[in-house]
Amino acid sequence: MSENIRGNIAIEGISIGKIVKVDQSLDEYIAAYVPGGVDEELGRLEQMIDALSAEIDEGVEAMREAGQEEQAEIMEAHSFLLMDPSFTDLANDKTRELSNAPMAVLEAAKETANILAAMDDEYMRERSQDIRDIGNRLARMLLGVKGLEVGDEPVVLCGYEVEPSIIANIPDEKLAGVVMGQGSTTCHAVIIAKSRAIITIVGLADRIDDIPDGATAILDGNEGVVIVDPTPQEQADYEQRIAEQRAQLLRYDALRDLPAEMTDGVCVRLAANIGLPKDAQAAVKYGNQGVGLFRSEFLFMGRDSAPSEELQYDNYKKAIMACNGELCVIRTMDIGGDKPLPYLHIPKEDNPFLGYRAVRISLEREDLFKPQLRAILRAGVYGKVAIMVPMITSVDEIKGVRAVLDKVREELTTEGMDFAKDVQLGIMVETPAAAVMTPVLVKYVDFFSIGTNDLVQYTLAVDRINPQVSTLYDHFHPAVLQLIQRTIKTGRDNGKWVGMCGEMASDPYAAIILMAMGISELSMSAPAIPRVKEKIRSISMAEAKDHLAKVMLLETGAEVREYLKEHIG
Ligand code: PEP
Ligand code: MG
Repeated sequence: MSENIRGNIAIEGISIGKIVKVDQSLDEYIAAYVPGGVDEELGRLEQMIDALSAEIDEGVEAMREAGQEEQAEIMEAHSFLLMDPSFTDLANDKTRELSNAPMAVLEAAKETANILAAMDDEYMRERSQDIRDIGNRLARMLLGVKGLEVGDEPVVLCGYEVEPSIIANIPDEKLAGVVMGQGSTTCHAVIIAKSRAIITIVGLADRIDDIPDGATAILDGNEGVVIVDPTPQEQADYEQRIAEQRAQLLRYDALRDLPAEMTDGVCVRLAANIGLPKDAQAAVKYGNQGVGLFRSEFLFMGRDSAPSEELQYDNYKKAIMACNGELCVIRTMDIGGDKPLPYLHIPKEDNPFLGYRAVRISLEREDLFKPQLRAILRAGVYGKVAIMVPMITSVDEIKGVRAVLDKVREELTTEGMDFAKDVQLGIMVETPAAAVMTPVLVKYVDFFSIGTNDLVQYTLAVDRINPQVSTLYDHFHPAVLQLIQRTIKTGRDNGKWVGMCGEMASDPYAAIILMAMGISELSMSAPAIPRVKEKIRSISMAEAKDHLAKVMLLETGAEVREYLKEHIG
């Protein structure tokens, strides 16, 4: 009998492989270790730090040569962490204390990791996994424990945590997937897996212990399920699905350079949502047409202070250039809500999603807002850029933003700085207030972009990150559809373009009715682009309009979803 263990989807897809447990304890090896005197242990430690550093550097070079830039960057950061005196000094002190280099290294890594894990900043908390990775790697070298050896059969790496370096050092063809007990989808292990499209399921918690080493496992990353010891029938079914998945990838590849065009010629722009400039470079392989949402707040996170104008300018310039002449929409910082910034010292709020966030902060903190606007305008000379303001609820806010923007333009002119003169200014429509007020707001903007992630949460009064109410969170709820339709119609009637950059844009069924409503741009995480494009290319605008008319008469989100599945296929 097989066993199904449920987790959370981190990277979608299906695969089959042999489980390799990776978080084995080193206790046995430590017990068998024969330490020398203090000086000898310090000497061994120094030698192994140098050896590991050389090994990491060699790996980084190989990754760069293979075009795996994201992985290389993470491993390069490991090299810096390894050499950081706050770690090496502690490891040396502990070695003097314990006269046992591997034990000292594990303790130093644990202490450093605990300090990081207790920090307010999520980014720093997640670095604790990296330092544990380095400690374990170093301890294994000191103990002479061999690294993971992978045979011919593809493996599924499995552990409460899986060290980023282990994933990084196994070639694609031998790595079927990753399964973790911990739940983060933004830790370095997941980022590396994502950069290589390795199917990953996280958040199994202590059920991870129920998966035996060496077992065969199916990873259903579309459902977030690990099937341990599958029956022959299950294995055959999934092998068939894997074959279909391969065929689909080939079809998607062939779509890359084709337009998102309906069978009767109506087109939409399919753009990418990005967090950092490198995401814009990575999006190219999915055939994106520019960037519809650059979440600039990522530049503000994981730091002790706000990024300088120059640092922002460099990043915006990179993203704009990666758009190859297509529009790059940069959203001004959307801090607050689920993205706190410790250095802003915002007091704890009971309802952060209804609190001090996004444009509310920007308008009060010109010391942060002006450098951001200056950086965007200056970077704008390298391509086509637009500024987009999040969380607008009233016309005063966009007027306020315009006033600061005018001031910034004047200052740049006085300083004789080169900057783009034709930058569009738009807002996110992500509050019901903004959607209702679009007939007024439209006078002050060049475009609207509908942010359904927040629009759904605020319209339906459903916290977007609370799993207990997640079944109520539905972008097809008729109230949401009406607000979206109103926004698109208002924009079009006034000659302004309307896009969508919330998750709904990546739903192929939604894409069809949004096009029928008259949307001009759908922006999404880049890997979703081919799936949406394929659906768009399978239908005509006449059919889409017919479906839209019927859908707008339905009474619940469930009815809408059912209708679309049945009629669009
Ligand atoms: C949205 O709210 O739909 C959106 C795109 O913004 P974020 O998910 O960053 O809040
Ligand atoms: Mg939002």
